[in-house]
Amino acid sequence: MKNRDVASDRTDRVLVLNSGSSSIKYQLLEPVSGVVDASGIVERIGEGNGAIEQRADGEITRRAERVADHTTGLRLVFDTLSAAGRDVLSEGVFAVGHRVVHGGETFYRPTLIDDGVLTAISELSSLAPLHNPANVAGIESVRELLPSVPQVAVFDTAFFHGLPAAAKTYAIDGEIAAAHGIRRYGFHGTSHEYVCGQAAELLGRDPAQLNQIIFHLGNGASASAVQGGRPVDTSMGLTPLEGLVMGSRPGDLDPGIVSHLMRSAHLDIDQVDTLLNRDSGIKGLSGVNDFRELQRLMANGDSAALLAYDVYIHRLRHYLGAYLVELGAVDAITFTAGVGENTPRVRADAVAGLERFGIAVDPVANAARARAARRISPPDAPVAVLVVPTNEELAIARAARRVVAESGCASAR
Ligand code: AMP
Repeated sequence: MKNRDVASDRTDRVLVLNSGSSSIKYQLLEPVSGVVDASGIVERIGEGNGAIEQRADGEITRRAERVADHTTGLRLVFDTLSAAGRDVLSEGVFAVGHRVVHGGETFYRPTLIDDGVLTAISELSSLAPLHNPANVAGIESVRELLPSVPQVAVFDTAFFHGLPAAAKTYAIDGEIAAAHGIRRYGFHGTSHEYVCGQAAELLGRDPAQLNQIIFHLGNGASASAVQGGRPVDTSMGLTPLEGLVMGSRPGDLDPGIVSHLMRSAHLDIDQVDTLLNRDSGIKGLSGVNDFRELQRLMANGDSAALLAYDVYIHRLRHYLGAYLVELGAVDAITFTAGVGENTPRVRADAVAGLERFGIAVDPVANAARARAARRISPPDAPVAVLVVPTNEELAIARAARRVVAESGCASAR
């Protein structure tokens, strides 16, 4: 986190909220410079043992208390910010930017929130039952506590809205698909779009002239193929379950597995949902979903962990191959998010043996620890392999600032 070195107008700050079903992640930042005043998370909302953890000016504050609902959680955020010298309630903020998971067919750009938008986000809950209701709760809480501050929704699906028909269409009955909104939407779009721009900047090139493959490898994981700045494919689909192997999600599966489990193991729909969202992926195979723990198990020769890693890499390479062919020629392959930014072995194994395609990593550059965006391929390699830290909060804050400034609806302070 960068420290503020000058006391500046707090009302240029944007509060970014990522509301989950039982958590609120937040960041208070200045969107032009990216200076972060404070960031934190409220966890276990609605359970008996709620807690907040905040970082501000290098100090960590922790408080444990029951948090009944999102509005109580947001009050706790404002209290904790105030204790760190950021009194959002009295000083206001320029805007609140929300990460909203599903924009469906309706939303494909950052959108100023009014009653109609809020209703539409709520109506999209059938496509994202775990996520959109939490986003709605976050928006309503801000309305209650900061009624005069404009709010902007930034949709995780937006970047992929214009996917070509062949990439976004599932091969099922067209009428059923249309009636139920079934198509590939893609997720992590804010991250893919941000990283795509940062990669082009690092290379000193116009994104419109680059073909890129981006791997967002965090707890959730997704890949995208981006042609001249426009995505032409992505690995997540109707929901964030499809595609790469993730911390606790399986990625691609034979859909027959679901009906087989329901028939043979007598799992009901909620049990299948839990199995696929929480107990699969790296966790299902190895027992741990954190990649650092996986690596510790692997170092001890744990065979389940080694298999989980091999399955993870096998799927990554599967998508790399598919997107190489879809793009025809690729200028940059970029790794981002927790695993992508911090795990040289994953990056090396993902591209191993692809020298004949102009793809290689330089072992020294790949192993070097750094926070900045950087190139890890040999300088003369035809394809640039990059590590680019993602920053979804900054992207959301900038989008919120832009939308509010364009709408002429700056907050009454
Ligand atoms: P994210 O969802 O982007 O926060 O990424 C979370 C994942 O990144 C978890 O599996 C973490 O174990 C992994 N991760 C974060 N930091 C590191 C690190 N320094 N080394 C290896 N994995 C990491």
